Amino acid sequence: MDSLVRDNIKKMTAYSSARHEFTGSASIYLDANENSFGSPLPDNFNRYPDPLQIEVKEKLSKIKGVPVPNIFLGNGSDEAIDLLYRVFCVPGRDHALIFPPTYGMYEVCAEMNDVKVKKINLNKAYQLDIDAIESAIDPFTKLIFICSPNNPTGNSIDREDVEVILNNFNGIVVIDEAYINYSRQKTFITELTEYPNLVIMQTLSKAWGLAGLRLGMAFASKPIIDLMNKVKYPYNVNTATQLLALEALDNIDWVNEHIATTVVEREKLKNDLLNLSFTENVFPSDANFILVKMKQARNIYEKLCENGIIVRDRSKVVLCDDCLRITVGTPEENTQLTESLKTYKLN
Ligand code: PMP
Repeated sequence: MDSLVRDNIKKMTAYSSARHEFTGSASIYLDANENSFGSPLPDNFNRYPDPLQIEVKEKLSKIKGVPVPNIFLGNGSDEAIDLLYRVFCVPGRDHALIFPPTYGMYEVCAEMNDVKVKKINLNKAYQLDIDAIESAIDPFTKLIFICSPNNPTGNSIDREDVEVILNNFNGIVVIDEAYINYSRQKTFITELTEYPNLVIMQTLSKAWGLAGLRLGMAFASKPIIDLMNKVKYPYNVNTATQLLALEALDNIDWVNEHIATTVVEREKLKNDLLNLSFTENVFPSDANFILVKMKQARNIYEKLCENGIIVRDRSKVVLCDDCLRITVGTPEENTQLTESLKTYKLN
């Protein structure tokens, strides 16, 4: 691990906040230049939040079966992506491997950090091209991002292929499981103890229905989590997010119920899309969205917009020619979508 970390990150002293230096409880807090008179809001909004979000992590620890020291929390999983570049990649020298078509932020965060990405496209089945990956790896390959289920294709990446990478690559392997709750595949969380170089990202933005809350999770060995905590901003998860997350995390039944409904609706939507004359392919999905290839995809996208229905036009994305990405809606929304599509006439 030591040889993977940037020298400046190893050497730097992390910022030590007031709440880091005193973690017990006291009757009078005059150490953080907060407003001693309170705030216009209830709760403790005049106080800085817990920099390490221990209470939220304790709840998550029970749900995920991962010990608290192996959990990082951030402002969405996007924060974790950025921090991994900062910790492991020397700007202008190191690189990450990404497998397009995939989630755009792996490349955006790399550019932001002046880090190159080497792109190895998925094959036609939207699976990893293991031979090409093997030849692309060199001593400056620090991170590999695997998105499973993958956005925008929706499929899970074959577990055996992920294992080949985990067993042969000495850098950091990041598995982005943002959509794992909708998948037929098992999470890699159970493998964390096997692989000290594995990082698993998940988020409350999808199955938990909390995209507006901004809470992303990374699970990894303690040395990796410690490094991410070292470089994060001191109070990266605000009090409102922590309080609401604690409340939301008591509602796992709500989550499971809606995962089940989403999966049923996904399969129904898939069949409805297949019945349209201009649908060329509906790709298998393990997520809460479906990638569909349609004749005149761009025109259909525009027609849907006119009808007040917004889907994601992915038709210019590599390996996604003529494809739209459609989030699974409520039963009523999906019906409206298919009814609107049925009125489309090919030019
Ligand atoms: N990973 C994937 C694959 C995603 O699709 C998204 C968001 N669409 C994210 C991560 C980011 O999630 P968050 O809201 O936690 O930043």
